Amino acid sequence: MPKSLEELRQEIGDCRRCALCETRTTLVFGVGNPEATVMFIGEAPGRQEDLGAEPFIGAAGQYLNELLALAGLTRPEIYIANVLKCRPPENRDPSPVEIEACSPFLREQVRCIGPQIIVTLGNFATHFILRTDRGISGLRGQIHITGAFSVLPIFHPAAAIYDRSKRPVMEDDFRLLGRLIETRRAEYAQKAGQEQQAGQEQQAGQEQQAGQEQQAGQAKSGQAQAVAGTRAEAGAEAEADDRPVQEGLDI
Ligand code: SF4
Repeated sequence: MPKSLEELRQEIGDCRRCALCETRTTLVFGVGNPEATVMFIGEAPGRQEDLGAEPFIGAAGQYLNELLALAGLTRPEIYIANVLKCRPPENRDPSPVEIEACSPFLREQVRCIGPQIIVTLGNFATHFILRTDRGISGLRGQIHITGAFSVLPIFHPAAAIYDRSKRPVMEDDFRLLGRLIETRRAEYAQKAGQEQQAGQEQQAGQEQQAGQEQQAGQAKSGQAQAVAGTRAEAGAEAEADDRPVQEGLDI
Protein backbone atom coordinates (compact mmCIF):
# COMPACT_ATOMS: atom_id res chain seq x y z
CA MET A 1 0.00 0.00 0.00
CA PRO A 2 1.69 3.27 -1.07
CA LYS A 3 2.02 6.03 1.51
CA SER A 4 0.12 9.28 1.13
CA LEU A 5 2.07 12.40 0.15
CA GLU A 6 1.45 13.80 3.66
CA GLU A 7 2.95 10.69 5.26
CA LEU A 8 5.95 10.89 2.94
CA ARG A 9 6.47 14.58 3.75
CA GLN A 10 6.38 13.77 7.48
CA GLU A 11 8.87 10.96 6.95
CA ILE A 12 11.31 13.31 5.16
CA GLY A 13 10.99 15.79 8.02
CA ASP A 14 14.00 18.09 8.44
CA CYS A 15 16.13 15.83 6.20
CA ARG A 16 19.89 15.84 6.72
CA ARG A 17 20.82 12.97 4.42
CA CYS A 18 23.16 15.10 2.30
CA ALA A 19 25.24 18.28 2.65
CA LEU A 20 22.60 20.48 0.95
CA CYS A 21 20.76 20.64 4.27
CA GLU A 22 23.51 23.02 5.46
CA THR A 23 22.88 25.61 2.74
CA ARG A 24 19.16 25.42 1.95
CA THR A 25 16.60 27.85 3.32
CA THR A 26 13.67 25.46 2.94
CA LEU A 27 13.16 21.92 1.77
CA VAL A 28 10.99 22.09 -1.38
CA PHE A 29 8.89 18.92 -1.38
CA GLY A 30 6.54 19.35 -4.35
CA VAL A 31 3.11 20.78 -5.08
CA GLY A 32 -0.07 20.07 -7.00
CA ASN A 33 -2.83 17.57 -7.56
CA PRO A 34 -2.07 14.34 -5.63
CA GLU A 35 -4.06 12.39 -8.26
CA ALA A 36 -2.58 14.12 -11.29
CA THR A 37 -2.56 12.38 -14.68
CA VAL A 38 0.55 14.37 -15.61
CA MET A 39 3.54 14.78 -13.29
CA PHE A 40 6.36 17.22 -14.07
CA ILE A 41 9.84 16.54 -12.71
CA GLY A 42 12.53 19.22 -12.65
CA GLU A 43 16.09 19.27 -11.40
CA ALA A 44 16.33 21.16 -8.10
CA PRO A 45 14.94 24.30 -6.45
CA GLY A 46 16.40 27.64 -7.56
CA ARG A 47 16.73 30.76 -5.45
CA GLN A 48 13.03 31.76 -5.60
CA GLU A 49 11.90 28.22 -4.87
CA ASP A 50 14.34 27.89 -1.96
CA LEU A 51 12.82 31.04 -0.43
CA GLY A 52 9.19 30.29 -1.35
CA ALA A 53 9.21 26.52 -0.57
CA GLU A 54 7.47 25.73 -3.88
CA PRO A 55 8.86 24.42 -7.19
CA PHE A 56 8.76 26.61 -10.33
CA ILE A 57 7.65 29.95 -8.91
CA GLY A 58 10.34 32.17 -10.46
CA ALA A 59 10.60 33.36 -14.09
CA ALA A 60 10.93 29.76 -15.28
CA GLY A 61 7.72 28.93 -13.41
CA GLN A 62 5.83 31.76 -15.10
CA TYR A 63 7.00 30.57 -18.49
CA LEU A 64 5.99 27.02 -17.55
CA ASN A 65 2.45 28.26 -16.81
CA GLU A 66 2.26 29.74 -20.33
CA LEU A 67 3.49 26.50 -21.85
CA LEU A 68 0.95 24.42 -19.88
CA ALA A 69 -1.87 26.28 -21.63
CA LEU A 70 -0.57 24.96 -25.00
CA ALA A 71 -1.14 21.43 -23.68
CA GLY A 72 -4.61 22.33 -22.34
CA LEU A 73 -3.37 22.11 -18.75
CA THR A 74 -3.42 24.37 -15.69
CA ARG A 75 -1.14 24.31 -12.64
CA PRO A 76 -3.79 22.93 -10.23
CA GLU A 77 -4.27 19.87 -12.51
CA ILE A 78 -0.64 18.76 -12.45
CA TYR A 79 1.91 17.78 -9.82
CA ILE A 80 5.45 19.20 -9.86
CA ALA A 81 8.48 17.96 -7.95
CA ASN A 82 12.25 18.03 -8.38
CA VAL A 83 14.91 15.32 -8.29
CA LEU A 84 16.56 17.22 -5.42
CA LYS A 85 14.45 18.75 -2.67
CA CYS A 86 17.11 21.29 -1.58
CA ARG A 87 18.84 24.00 -3.58
CA PRO A 88 22.47 23.40 -4.59
CA PRO A 89 24.53 26.55 -3.79
CA GLU A 90 24.73 29.01 -6.72
CA ASN A 91 22.40 26.69 -8.67
CA ARG A 92 25.27 24.35 -9.51
CA ASP A 93 24.53 20.93 -11.00
CA PRO A 94 23.36 18.23 -8.56
CA SER A 95 26.13 15.79 -7.62
CA PRO A 96 25.69 12.01 -7.98
CA VAL A 97 25.90 11.66 -4.18
CA GLU A 98 23.08 14.15 -3.68
CA ILE A 99 20.92 12.48 -6.33
CA GLU A 100 21.44 9.09 -4.74
CA ALA A 101 20.56 10.44 -1.29
CA CYS A 102 17.42 12.27 -2.41
CA SER A 103 16.00 10.13 -5.22
CA PRO A 104 14.12 7.65 -2.96
CA PHE A 105 11.80 10.54 -2.05
CA LEU A 106 11.01 11.23 -5.70
CA ARG A 107 10.40 7.53 -6.40
CA GLU A 108 7.94 7.43 -3.51
CA GLN A 109 6.20 10.57 -4.77
CA VAL A 110 5.70 8.96 -8.20
CA ARG A 111 4.26 5.85 -6.50
CA CYS A 112 1.87 7.97 -4.41
CA ILE A 113 0.58 9.97 -7.37
CA GLY A 114 0.58 7.20 -10.00
CA PRO A 115 0.56 9.53 -13.05
CA GLN A 116 -0.04 8.24 -16.58
CA ILE A 117 2.43 10.71 -18.08
CA ILE A 118 5.74 12.02 -16.70
CA VAL A 119 7.27 15.14 -18.22
CA THR A 120 10.97 15.42 -17.42
CA LEU A 121 12.31 18.97 -17.55
CA GLY A 122 15.99 19.10 -18.49
CA ASN A 123 18.88 16.66 -18.44
CA PHE A 124 19.02 15.56 -14.80
CA ALA A 125 15.35 14.61 -14.49
CA THR A 126 15.45 12.88 -17.89
CA HIS A 127 18.58 10.89 -17.02
CA PHE A 128 17.08 9.84 -13.71
CA ILE A 129 13.69 8.71 -15.06
CA LEU A 130 14.87 7.12 -18.33
CA ARG A 131 18.12 5.73 -16.84
CA THR A 132 20.16 7.07 -19.71
CA ASP A 133 23.16 9.35 -20.26
CA ARG A 134 21.88 10.65 -23.59
CA GLY A 135 21.45 14.40 -23.82
CA ILE A 136 18.02 16.04 -23.74
CA SER A 137 18.47 17.38 -27.31
CA GLY A 138 18.42 13.84 -28.68
CA LEU A 139 15.54 12.66 -26.49
CA ARG A 140 13.04 15.54 -26.58
CA GLY A 141 10.10 15.49 -28.98
CA GLN A 142 9.62 11.73 -28.58
CA ILE A 143 7.41 9.73 -26.25
CA HIS A 144 9.32 7.08 -24.29
CA ILE A 145 7.62 4.23 -22.47
CA THR A 146 9.08 3.13 -19.16
CA GLY A 147 7.09 0.75 -16.97
CA ALA A 148 3.52 2.01 -16.79
CA PHE A 149 4.47 5.58 -17.74
CA SER A 150 4.67 7.55 -20.96
CA VAL A 151 7.67 9.86 -20.54
CA LEU A 152 8.10 13.06 -22.51
CA PRO A 153 11.48 14.81 -22.07
CA ILE A 154 11.39 18.58 -22.60
CA PHE A 155 14.02 21.30 -22.18
CA HIS A 156 14.03 22.92 -18.75
CA PRO A 157 11.98 26.16 -18.97
CA ALA A 158 14.95 28.06 -17.48
CA ALA A 159 16.93 27.19 -20.63
CA ALA A 160 14.39 29.06 -22.75
CA ILE A 161 14.58 32.10 -20.45
CA TYR A 162 18.27 32.55 -21.33
CA ASP A 163 18.08 31.20 -24.89
CA ARG A 164 14.89 32.30 -26.62
CA SER A 165 15.75 30.26 -29.73
CA LYS A 166 14.61 27.19 -27.75
CA ARG A 167 11.08 28.52 -27.33
CA PRO A 168 9.52 27.27 -30.64
CA VAL A 169 10.82 23.77 -29.92
CA MET A 170 9.49 23.87 -26.35
CA GLU A 171 6.12 25.07 -27.56
CA ASP A 172 5.98 22.20 -30.09
CA ASP A 173 6.76 19.77 -27.28
CA PHE A 174 3.92 21.08 -25.13
CA ARG A 175 1.51 20.74 -28.08
CA LEU A 176 2.74 17.15 -28.40
CA LEU A 177 2.00 16.71 -24.70
CA GLY A 178 -1.57 17.94 -25.31
CA ARG A 179 -2.05 15.32 -28.04
CA LEU A 180 -0.59 12.61 -25.82
CA ILE A 181 -3.03 13.51 -23.02
CA GLU A 182 -5.97 13.30 -25.47
CA THR A 183 -4.81 9.89 -26.68
CA ARG A 184 -4.42 8.53 -23.15
CA ARG A 185 -7.87 9.91 -22.17
CA ALA A 186 -9.50 8.24 -25.20
CA GLU A 187 -7.75 4.93 -24.36
CA TYR A 188 -8.90 5.21 -20.74
CA ALA A 189 -12.52 5.95 -21.77
CA GLN A 190 -12.50 3.01 -24.21
CA LYS A 191 -11.12 0.66 -21.55
CA ALA A 192 -13.68 1.87 -18.98
CA GLY A 193 -16.48 1.29 -21.56
CA GLN A 194 -15.24 -2.24 -22.28
CA GLU A 195 -15.03 -3.04 -18.57
CA GLN A 196 -18.56 -1.71 -18.00
CA GLN A 197 -19.91 -3.81 -20.91
CA ALA A 198 -18.10 -6.92 -19.65
CA GLY A 199 -19.56 -6.30 -16.17
CA GLN A 200 -23.09 -5.96 -17.57
CA GLU A 201 -22.71 -9.14 -19.64
CA GLN A 202 -21.40 -11.04 -16.61
CA GLN A 203 -24.30 -9.83 -14.48
CA ALA A 204 -26.84 -10.73 -17.18
CA GLY A 205 -25.24 -14.19 -17.46
CA GLN A 206 -25.39 -14.69 -13.71
CA GLU A 207 -29.03 -13.59 -13.57
CA GLN A 208 -29.94 -15.91 -16.46
CA GLN A 209 -28.19 -18.84 -14.78
CA ALA A 210 -29.85 -18.08 -11.45
CA GLY A 211 -33.25 -17.93 -13.24
CA GLN A 212 -32.64 -21.28 -14.94
CA GLU A 213 -31.56 -22.86 -11.66
CA GLN A 214 -34.63 -21.50 -9.91
CA GLN A 215 -36.88 -22.79 -12.71
CA ALA A 216 -35.20 -26.20 -12.58
CA GLY A 217 -35.63 -26.22 -8.80
CA GLN A 218 -39.31 -25.39 -9.12
CA ALA A 219 -39.85 -28.12 -11.72
CA LYS A 220 -38.10 -30.64 -9.48
CA SER A 221 -40.15 -29.57 -6.49
CA GLY A 222 -43.33 -29.88 -8.61
CA GLN A 223 -42.34 -33.38 -9.61
CA ALA A 224 -41.59 -34.29 -6.01
CA GLN A 225 -44.95 -32.92 -4.93
CA ALA A 226 -46.68 -34.86 -7.71
CA VAL A 227 -44.90 -38.05 -6.66
CA ALA A 228 -45.76 -37.44 -3.01
CA GLY A 229 -49.36 -36.72 -3.98
CA THR A 230 -49.57 -39.92 -5.99
CA ARG A 231 -48.01 -41.86 -3.17
CA ALA A 232 -50.41 -40.36 -0.64
CA GLU A 233 -53.34 -41.08 -2.89
CA ALA A 234 -52.17 -44.65 -3.42
CA GLY A 235 -51.68 -45.04 0.31
CA ALA A 236 -55.09 -43.71 1.01
CA GLU A 237 -56.57 -46.07 -1.55
CA ALA A 238 -54.61 -48.95 -0.06
CA GLU A 239 -55.79 -47.96 3.39
CA ALA A 240 -59.34 -47.80 2.14
CA ASP A 241 -59.00 -51.25 0.65
CA ASP A 242 -57.66 -52.64 3.92
CA ARG A 243 -60.62 -51.41 5.90
CA PRO A 244 -62.86 -54.22 7.11
CA VAL A 245 -66.06 -54.53 5.19
CA GLN A 246 -68.77 -53.33 7.47
CA GLU A 247 -71.61 -53.73 5.19
CA GLY A 248 -73.99 -56.38 6.37
CA LEU A 249 -72.94 -56.21 10.01
CA ASP A 250 -75.64 -56.52 12.39
CA ILE A 251 -75.27 -53.66 14.87
S1 SF4 B 1 18.63 17.29 -1.01
FE1 SF4 B 1 17.31 15.59 -0.43
S2 SF4 B 1 18.65 14.18 0.66
FE2 SF4 B 1 19.72 16.17 0.59
S3 SF4 B 1 19.12 17.16 2.50
FE3 SF4 B 1 17.67 17.83 0.92
S4 SF4 B 1 15.95 16.39 1.12
FE4 SF4 B 1 17.68 15.48 2.19
